[in-house]
Amino acid sequence: MERSDLSHLSFEFFPPKTPRETRNLLRTANRLAEFHPDFYSVTHGAGGSAREGTLETVSMLREHGYNAIPHITWGGDTRESMVSLLARYADIGVSDMVVLRGDVGEDTLGEISFRHAHELVSLIREEMGNRFRLHVGCYPEMHPEAESIDVDIDRLKEKVDAGADCCITQYFFNPDAYPAFLDNCRQAGIRKPILPGVMPIANFQKLIQFSEKCGAEIPRWLMMQLRSREHDPDQLRAYGADVVANLCRRLMADGASGIHVYTLNLARPTQAFLALLLDS
Ligand code: FAD
Repeated sequence: MERSDLSHLSFEFFPPKTPRETRNLLRTANRLAEFHPDFYSVTHGAGGSAREGTLETVSMLREHGYNAIPHITWGGDTRESMVSLLARYADIGVSDMVVLRGDVGEDTLGEISFRHAHELVSLIREEMGNRFRLHVGCYPEMHPEAESIDVDIDRLKEKVDAGADCCITQYFFNPDAYPAFLDNCRQAGIRKPILPGVMPIANFQKLIQFSEKCGAEIPRWLMMQLRSREHDPDQLRAYGADVVANLCRRLMADGASGIHVYTLNLARPTQAFLALLLDS
């Protein structure tokens, strides 16, 4: 497979907190540029707390010549503060955004302006028209708070009807989850691209923690294989790169047009699986 076979490739970062982390992120961005990503997206902390971190990181990456775009999440925002943030992104030339409800606890809601992501999508369309291409999140293994897969897909349809252009999935390791989800989405009338989100495997314990938090299942066979390599980082990473490259091959065969990678700001795990995928 070649890079040109992927109609979309994007890499997700989180805002660095220290000058050292900032230097590391720039190094990562520089290394991953070899894959000609469509964009680098920068996550946005819940409750508005890390908003400046996102804006600063997007601006910094753009100043270095990278097409960086923000994730926008709601928290204690008023409509006015959200509109002014959108205007700032428009000013620096941002073309796309990933629009999410965000993971916010009931105690951190503050002044509630938006309950669900579709309301934020509607606000952006109302205030900014088609200025931005909007990506929203979706969940092949179901969002942990949803009542059922069908209800969750109806909610995704609501986001698409509100004006989303593209859906990016939570990561998953069960390859069958994607074609089944794709089928269900198409049956529900969702015609927009559904890009699989892919998590490279670099650290066993962190992977377990993340997966528990976001409701991504690590299949038993994979858990066993990773556990047996837990104390040999080189073996774990090599095995992980193989698993993720194979997963991507399956996803592409099952109709994915591209991928979005949760890099965790690290270049090597992403480079490792993409080198296998794009060489084959
Ligand atoms: P929603 O679409 O609002 O859905 C959340 C839940 O509410 C679901 O269970 C849904 O079924 C339900 N729901 C939706 N609409 C309705 C309705 N009208 N009535 C009743 N129930 C409804 N989090 C961050 O904090 N920062 C980030 O930068 C970030 N980036 C992400 C990037 C991607 C690609 C993905 C997939 C997730 C990301 N997340 C991020 C996590 C995300 O914020 C959480 O998964 C969050 O819990 C849900 O966000 P959402 O936009 O999917 O919410």
